[in-house]
Amino acid sequence: MEAKCQCGQLAVTTPGPSSTVVACHCSYCQRRSGSPFGVFAYYPDDVLAIIGEATKYERPTETGGTFETFFCPVCGSTVYARASKHPTMLGIAVGAFNDASFPAPVRSVWEQGKHHWVSIPGHAQHFPKGRS
Ligand SMILES: [Zn+2]
Ligand SMILES: [Zn+2]
Repeated sequence: MEAKCQCGQLAVTTPGPSSTVVACHCSYCQRRSGSPFGVFAYYPDDVLAIIGEATKYERPTETGGTFETFFCPVCGSTVYARASKHPTMLGIAVGAFNDASFPAPVRSVWEQGKHHWVSIPGHAQHFPKGRS
């Protein structure tokens, strides 16, 4: 499968869908994405191929780590991200696949910031803050 930015300059290829899909309702994900929540699908680094140029934005996390977002310097779309607590995993922005059949989230975090009309499937694990 291929995830790519709006303009197509930055892309990541994956061997298929990931079963580790996480929805996050934190303020950073809301501002980063411009949407009520962010959704990343996590993969081990070594199964992915990145094509194109990315700009990195790094921010501190609540637990003293960092969260790095990689976006296209031309069109600004976030395509992937890395959390320092999972240094060998990359999160791919699920919207970048543009595939409506992509698996639903298995985890929903920072639900204390969830917009009132958003409903995440009940089989997902739900956390008011980050997963501890
Ligand atoms: Zn782009
Ligand atoms: Zn978040």
